[in-house]
Amino acid sequence: MREIRVTTPLMPALNDYVHKLQTIWENNWLTNNGPMVLELQRALMERMGCAVELFVNGHMALDIAIKALELHGEVITTPFTFASTIHALVLNGCTPVFCDIKPTDYTIDENQIESLITDKTTAILPVHVYGCPCNIEQIEEIAVKHHLKVLYDAAHAFDVTVNGKNIASFGDISMFSFHATKVFNTVEGGALTFRENRTIAERVQRLRNFGIASEEIVDYIGLNAKMNEMAGAMGLCNLPLMEQALACRKQITERYVEVLQEQDGIRTLDYAEMHRRGITYNYAYMPIEIDAELAGYSRDELCEALHTNGIGARKYFYPLAPEYDCYRGRFAEAEIPVARRASERILTLPLAASMRAEDVERVCGVIKNMRR
Ligand SMILES: *Cc1c(COP(=O)(O)O)cnc(C)c1O
Repeated sequence: MREIRVTTPLMPALNDYVHKLQTIWENNWLTNNGPMVLELQRALMERMGCAVELFVNGHMALDIAIKALELHGEVITTPFTFASTIHALVLNGCTPVFCDIKPTDYTIDENQIESLITDKTTAILPVHVYGCPCNIEQIEEIAVKHHLKVLYDAAHAFDVTVNGKNIASFGDISMFSFHATKVFNTVEGGALTFRENRTIAERVQRLRNFGIASEEIVDYIGLNAKMNEMAGAMGLCNLPLMEQALACRKQITERYVEVLQEQDGIRTLDYAEMHRRGITYNYAYMPIEIDAELAGYSRDELCEALHTNGIGARKYFYPLAPEYDCYRGRFAEAEIPVARRASERILTLPLAASMRAEDVERVCGVIKNMRR
């Protein structure tokens, strides 16, 4: 039985990549703002309609955004995210304050943010989880009213737009991941995006390169987080494939939804509601929520059955960040019942641009057979 992986990376034709490698050899330039990386940066600025700075990966980009915005004290964030979001805060000396999420799209519940603000709060770090946009307008209002910074973890949200505007330009800074498993990849890579701002641009550029301003001036305690030319070349090869890749993801998602909406106790994202909110979605993940009482089987039982059949489903995000072993007993008990429930019920199904129609049917077949 052939294995169906939860995700497979977007890969260009090998010849296209080899062609770019030839140029790299001719340039004889491998890293430190090389021509490939600069070309990718320009292309992404055009696509996203804002300033873009490129990084070795999304996590380092997030780390540097936290440093550039000088976040400290308490930062209000979501427990329903990947480890990276919370680790980046903690490793920068910030205390994450966990706000519950909404049961519909799993993003931070904007109506609960204000009640968590204290005199130590310096920022809000929401996540556009699964590529679903947070309530950007209301978060902006809260931030302005309380003089807080807004840093979006947009790792999942490449090419998502809200009312025709790319999601990259909201908040003070947004972070994107170009990891192999993400919608758009540079093998490993990441970006920070923001509305044109000289101060932020200069800070993130220096923090990315050991804090070096010029040959004799080092004015930040920086890191090494630069994107290299091989990664830049991969990005340039993959970028023209995005329209086609998104169309494939959409088609696969629609087939999943068609089958799964007939199944008792299974809920998918509300794509029609996103459409009503003026969102163009990127079909980054295929999360489903299983209500064991209605379905007759639990999330864990379905996950087991899929694995037994060679299908790589993932409990993404279980456990919640505050429940990781490394954080046990470290944070104040958070009121996050919705996140807890989602975490117990959620499963992400295989989804990739290259996924075959017959594989979608195989996954759906296992789910249909769960009914007793
Ligand atoms: C992938 C991811 C990151 C980290 O990005 P890398 O490029 O893998 O370092 C951060 N936050 C979220 C929500 C992610 O999914």
